[in-house]
Amino acid sequence: MVSQTIGLLKDELPVEQETLLFSGDVKTGLVLVDIVNGFCTVGAGNLAPRVPDEQISGMVDESVKLARVFCDNKWPIFAFLDSHHPDIPEPPYPPHCIAGTDESKLVPDLQWLENEPNVTLRCKDCIDGFLGSLEKDGSNVFVDWVKTNKIKVVLVVGICTDVCVLDFVCSALSARNRGFLTPLEDVVVYSRGCATFDLPVDVARGIKGALAHPQDLMHHIGLYMAKGRGAKVVSEVFFGTPKEP
Ligand SMILES: [Zn+2]
Repeated sequence: MVSQTIGLLKDELPVEQETLLFSGDVKTGLVLVDIVNGFCTVGAGNLAPRVPDEQISGMVDESVKLARVFCDNKWPIFAFLDSHHPDIPEPPYPPHCIAGTDESKLVPDLQWLENEPNVTLRCKDCIDGFLGSLEKDGSNVFVDWVKTNKIKVVLVVGICTDVCVLDFVCSALSARNRGFLTPLEDVVVYSRGCATFDLPVDVARGIKGALAHPQDLMHHIGLYMAKGRGAKVVSEVFFGTPKEP
């Protein structure tokens, strides 16, 4: 039933996906959205998967592969870490990723990034990482990162496709369109490098006030919305030199 609905939805709201070929001559930055234990590691907290989750572990694997290539080439990486003060709730979500706990740390496979010189880590206490990059003096750490590194393309991976990834992508696109992110040209979402959480409708029905969130469906909708706002959505990322014309 659910898979039929998803099939129908994908027919009605198709998201055509491209292939991204890195040649190394277009300055590209990798953005990792919230690949922290609190969202990705089984049993790590209120918003972590309860059982091993194929979409989430696939997202982590793809992100690790990309992070290695970017670090090998000394290309810039910007990593958001969801991180909350214990006394400030984030409705509608239960407490999660409290600052200083393991929940707000990068997953074990990415913890080595903490010591890489090309990586900027940014703790954020809100859904939208673009807003979470604002400093009290009005400056924006993400905007500064794009400008300092003269980034033309950002490649976005992480979790959740339809929540933190989508909100960040939408804000980045609006900021680009308003000229705040020069020389940024493209915001690219890598679909296999993104994942979302699973709360099937039959489970949600048993939880008072819960909003159903079937994983495959919401992942698809997240990609659809991102593309609708002007992001490029890619299903493959290759590295290599383009053929001579
Ligand atoms: Zn949060």
